[in-house]
Amino acid sequence: MITFTIDGKSLQTEEGRTIIEAAREHGMDIPHFCWHPKLSMSGNCRMCLVEVEKLPKLVIACGTKVVEGMVVHTGTPRVINAREAVMEFLLINHPLDCPICDEAGECKLQDYAYKHSVGYSRFNEDKQHKPKRVELGPHVMLDTERCIMCSRCVRFCAEIAQAPQLTFTQRGDHVELTTFPGEPLDNPYAMNTIDICPVGALTSREFRFRARVWEMSATDTICPGCARGCSMHSWVRNNEILRQTPRYNPDVNDYWMCDRGRLETFKHVNADTRIKTPIVRKDGETIEMAWDEAIARIASEFRVFRKAEIAVFGSAFATNEDNFLLQKFAHEVLGTKHVAVLPHVVPGDEDALLIRADKTPNWRGAVAVGMANPGGLDVILKKIREGEIKAAYVVEDNIASDPAIAAVLPRLDFLVVHATNENETTRLADLVLPAASFAERHGTFTNFEGRVQRIRPSVTTLDQDRASDGLAMSRLDRFGTSFDRWGRGTKLDARPSWKIITAIASVMGFKYRYAKAEDVFAELASTVEAFKGMTYRSIGNRGALLAAPHEQHVRT
Ligand code: SF4
Ligand code: SF4
Repeated sequence: MITFTIDGKSLQTEEGRTIIEAAREHGMDIPHFCWHPKLSMSGNCRMCLVEVEKLPKLVIACGTKVVEGMVVHTGTPRVINAREAVMEFLLINHPLDCPICDEAGECKLQDYAYKHSVGYSRFNEDKQHKPKRVELGPHVMLDTERCIMCSRCVRFCAEIAQAPQLTFTQRGDHVELTTFPGEPLDNPYAMNTIDICPVGALTSREFRFRARVWEMSATDTICPGCARGCSMHSWVRNNEILRQTPRYNPDVNDYWMCDRGRLETFKHVNADTRIKTPIVRKDGETIEMAWDEAIARIASEFRVFRKAEIAVFGSAFATNEDNFLLQKFAHEVLGTKHVAVLPHVVPGDEDALLIRADKTPNWRGAVAVGMANPGGLDVILKKIREGEIKAAYVVEDNIASDPAIAAVLPRLDFLVVHATNENETTRLADLVLPAASFAERHGTFTNFEGRVQRIRPSVTTLDQDRASDGLAMSRLDRFGTSFDRWGRGTKLDARPSWKIITAIASVMGFKYRYAKAEDVFAELASTVEAFKGMTYRSIGNRGALLAAPHEQHVRT
């Protein structure tokens, strides 16, 4: 460790750290545009100039290593003057179009213009004009006039995505960011360039002009797109998810997420295909049902069958809480040992950065809580085919997307399904219950490395409104516009699967007393060895590792 002084404070840091890194380590932010903690140093923006005693000139904090006894000043008149000059220089050709720029509200240039510039321009000449609305690739739009040539996006593509698709052409104030001729910016991580662009030069083609950043709430949650479980923010306005962006988690995804996770994993939450109320199918007709009636119907149907005649399907898309309670329900209430969970692996669709071939967020958790039964699926399918299994309970998995399973399901006498959206399995079901999506409930997922992370609701359902006495509604309806995603009067009455299972068990005479997901997790943590000692609080925002990642042991 070496000792240095910054703005009068004596601090310690490890040898080899730059001034900007050492300051950041101690909670001090030195203004910067081009520096990023996970990219190589380029030192081109000059915004991080600081004064170091005994050095004749100002130095860039991102490119100068701290040495023993170094004395750094970040707010002297020389430094302030230099910063103001850099800002004036950067703003000379900038279009200053914040009122129509998507980045406004989260723009470093805008923030620094308030904090570190003189507030007026001495430049009277015409600004340099450059191409606008350039479609760099399928998801990224470039406004060349807004670019400050920091090269963060260029370095991201080359160093992190391992896809060097961006470069600069021309010189001086003619410099332009571009792709190579005829090549689009289309790597699977391209949209991270939008997040790290410190200005509004790169914007999302899907999200641009849909909302101002201050109109949305941002909820800390997890991407359900694959077994990595990237930490992310879910951005919502009027109870509708408008975008998802990565949330820094050094234990999982650093600052990044893939474009599929960012764009695809919330579409089903807003889709018209959502199951909005319980429905029952009778003689080819679909009838909506009240929750109490549906629960009573399921309980009475299950009583008709013998234990060995019922199969239960958990899900690698459902939470640890849901799967834990489902296996408990299967064993304790239904008395069946026919439980299974299906893998959803796309062989070859993975890479060394984030993307995993397992396209579920919680396979590891479903296995750890005892839902997966080696060879269980084949046995269940065989028994359905032979008429020995007559009823099935499927929670949050479109198992009929597998043609082999779709072929045997019609042989069942009773099929009940929890689902967020209509799918092949709900079309075969006798009774369908609307399940809350990952964006509408609390819970945990366990990623492929055994890291247990929390999901949190970013949009509300009628069930949450009831539980919060309408508080959720009043919180989200602050702009006076309709809070309902499908128009007034058609609100979604979906419930988390653990809550549905609790209700069925209670009607069947087993008093399950879980008022919230956290209650289920507390029992899980005291029952399943690998989760021992975990609480929602201890999981926090970065997650917690399973105690025994390589064992799947359920204590009885
Ligand atoms: S587009 Fe953005 S990230 Fe890329 S060089 Fe320009 S300002 Fe930097
Ligand atoms: S890598 Fe997986 S978890 Fe991460 S953003 Fe992509 S789909 Fe989501």
